[in-house]
Amino acid sequence: MKAHDGMYIGGQWRPAAGPDTIAVVNPADEQVIAHVPAGTADDVDAAVRAAREAFPAWAATPPAERAARIAALRDVLVARKDEIAETVTAELGAPLALSRTVHAGVPVLVAGSYAELAASYSFEERIGNSTVLLEPVGVVGAITPWNYPLHQVVAKVAPALAAGCTVVLKPAEDTPLTAQLFAEAIHEAGLPAGVFNLVTGLGPVAGQALAAHEGVDLVSFTGSTAVGRQIGATAGAAVKRVAVELGGKSANVILPSADLAKAVSVGIANVMSNSGQTCSAWTRMLVHRNQYDEALALAAAAVAKYVPGERVGPLVNAKQQKRVRGYIEKGLAEGARLVAGGPEAPHETGYYVSPTVFADVTWDMTIAQEEIFGPVLSILKYEDEEDALRIANGTVYGLAGAVWAADEAEAVAFARRMDTGQVDINGGRFNPLAPFGGYKQSGVGRELGPHGLSEYLQTKSLQF
Ligand code: NAD
Repeated sequence: MKAHDGMYIGGQWRPAAGPDTIAVVNPADEQVIAHVPAGTADDVDAAVRAAREAFPAWAATPPAERAARIAALRDVLVARKDEIAETVTAELGAPLALSRTVHAGVPVLVAGSYAELAASYSFEERIGNSTVLLEPVGVVGAITPWNYPLHQVVAKVAPALAAGCTVVLKPAEDTPLTAQLFAEAIHEAGLPAGVFNLVTGLGPVAGQALAAHEGVDLVSFTGSTAVGRQIGATAGAAVKRVAVELGGKSANVILPSADLAKAVSVGIANVMSNSGQTCSAWTRMLVHRNQYDEALALAAAAVAKYVPGERVGPLVNAKQQKRVRGYIEKGLAEGARLVAGGPEAPHETGYYVSPTVFADVTWDMTIAQEEIFGPVLSILKYEDEEDALRIANGTVYGLAGAVWAADEAEAVAFARRMDTGQVDINGGRFNPLAPFGGYKQSGVGRELGPHGLSEYLQTKSLQF
């Protein structure tokens, strides 16, 4: 795999400040495929300076011109989609078909949506005797996870650029090659030097330096709750803006009137996709007691199609594999019953976990409360709608969810009572313009569409 041995700062690849490197491992065969530099506080400082220097001119660039650059970026992502898909497969382990459609495809949609929004968004509004200017917040420090290596980057960088902000990105240490490809795409698209900068490195070193840097005006983070809390505290102490997206434990609520077979099979597909490494995955399936046994049989049949090494890839690294297998053991220890899968690894090589379905899960079990981030589904039984709602809302998270019913209005009535940021009604399609983000401990802030753009803007009111 091609790798750069420097950082992309100020429009060029520059040598890293220190000698340390990070090995990039293919999780399907455990082979080292590349090395990238492990950035230090000095690299972060150089990148933030470059972003600060580029900020005034980029902020003053007419929105139509910013839109044209983002459209050019989108076109490069289209032209290089095969290379992107292969790179994501090599460093994340996702099956190539998923890498093509989702990992390479969704960022094209999102970049395209921000090219359009930059051109059409009203960066000025009139309220009574005031004109309100919506101005870019400044330099953005973006810290991203590995689960959707390109999407997580584009979902932060595209709106930041559309708003007129400049960016320093610290991508996850497991998937830096996709981030380097993205930096190449930025360059090819003709973005001015310093508008986007990349520092690869370890979270506690480069990530922390970026979050704490006084030249950063907004930190946008996606990842674990533990790190999110720390970043929120650092940003709070410095009185700087912060957005944190911290995962979830979403409920897939199947009401008695629903098409059970469809709801179960879409629910299984949702959890198994990307090996379960999706923060918005519906990892708790809620089924009425009268339909419970039928749902278990349907789930067992549906999950059998998800063969590790074919339709399901490995987890990203050995640590995540161990963590997820630990959760499966914990589920058994707490009294849940296996319908499929289990803690044994299905292959000797590669960080695979067996697609696992648990029955007899109660709402308070660890596997029903904590984010597992693997191909593991819990099926819970409810007595009536009130019980279903109590279970659905009974975690610290509130990122996503699903409701199924014969009648759309019935599903919507239930969805209105859910404490969560997104709900798919009867398998509703992904909308790249709909705000994405959490209630409760799933985070603060929204990504995607106009709501995602407004995170990167601040208001100035002029009174007349
Ligand atoms: P993580 O939070 O450690 O990593 C996410 C990003 O934060 C990476 O770029 C990392 O380098 C950086 N980081 C780590 N420590 C940092 C620090 N002290 N300061 C600044 N940046 C820092 O997540 P992980 O260890 O890769 O995954 C652990 C768990 O987090 C997963 O099992 C899952 O539950 C959750 N997770 C959630 C999402 C999501 O989309 N919400 C994504 C990945 C992981």
